[in-house]
Amino acid sequence: MSAGDGRKGRSLNDRESNAMNIAFIGLGNMGGGMAANLVKAGHAVRAFDLSQEALVRAQEQGCTPCSSVAEAIAGADAVISMLPNGQIVRTLYTQEVIGKAPSGAILVDCSTIDLETARGVTSQAHAAGYFMVDAPVSGGIAAAAAGTLTFMVGGTDEAFARAAPVLEPMAKAVIRAGASGAGQIAKMCNNMLLAIHMIGTCEALKLAQKAGLDPQTFYEISSRSTGYCWSLNDYTPMAGVGAASPADNGYAGGFAAALMLKDLNLAMGGAAGAGANVPMGEHARAIYEAFVESGGGAKDFGAILTTL
Ligand code: NAD
Repeated sequence: MSAGDGRKGRSLNDRESNAMNIAFIGLGNMGGGMAANLVKAGHAVRAFDLSQEALVRAQEQGCTPCSSVAEAIAGADAVISMLPNGQIVRTLYTQEVIGKAPSGAILVDCSTIDLETARGVTSQAHAAGYFMVDAPVSGGIAAAAAGTLTFMVGGTDEAFARAAPVLEPMAKAVIRAGASGAGQIAKMCNNMLLAIHMIGTCEALKLAQKAGLDPQTFYEISSRSTGYCWSLNDYTPMAGVGAASPADNGYAGGFAAALMLKDLNLAMGGAAGAGANVPMGEHARAIYEAFVESGGGAKDFGAILTTL
């Protein structure tokens, strides 16, 4: 595939200045807010989801609800997906999008999925003449609603140039991570690190408390010392201590432990495929797996503190 090979898409300048037709597939907790921000930016968003409830919510946000993928992608300049897992993403693109969406459409998968599927689907899309990127996000449901997600994008220079203007209304930052799959690599590494420093933060807060140090005093010291990290400084997982977080609300809302376990499983799969040694990541995965199996899956991932 080469750039500028007769695709019918509009030029980059046209796309930047004009509203686009965007097909959005998967309007759940994340996709619903993301699609709403595309509408606010002036784009025409045609929405498809298996859930009728999600479609009604999308319609309330100004999207046009569609009864099939085919209806959503008709006339699309861009196709965006925000779906639960790699198998669903693979089925969607290989059976319903590639070869069926307009030839000039940029394909953008924002789901958090395994590297192999991300690369495989993109290579099929390229073989069929499409530009495609993997563009997973950091930031939860609140950032999706506020349009302040960080997108980590894997794809060719040309695919990134086409995807970036589509992503900007939903973003605080749109960063090219590298070639196809690099977005998913960045996402799995980031979330493995997040899991490890969250568990470490929980352990340190509990140790301080049990050893007789006021946890708030520990927070004041460590958040300005070398223990500084996002989990401690900005999302303190102990109720009433440090920064506000779901801990102050019984660990309701926030980033579900089950989703963290999903991301850690993806990271361990990625590590095995790359031959990387990740003992702390594996330990974090086991800790989240035990927590989810004991019924904690819906709680915010900082609730690991309650197990210590
Ligand atoms: P969700 O379950 O709320 O939404 C997924 C939506 O996809 C649902 O509405 C579901 O009905 C729909 N869907 C499933 N299969 C479909 C299909 N074949 N066709 C059309 N629609 C289909 O999940 P979410 O929290 O929005 O997460 C979506 C993705 O974003 C996941 O990959 C997740 O890992 C990632 N993510 C989530 C968060 C978060 O905080 N929730 C943060 C970052 C990344």
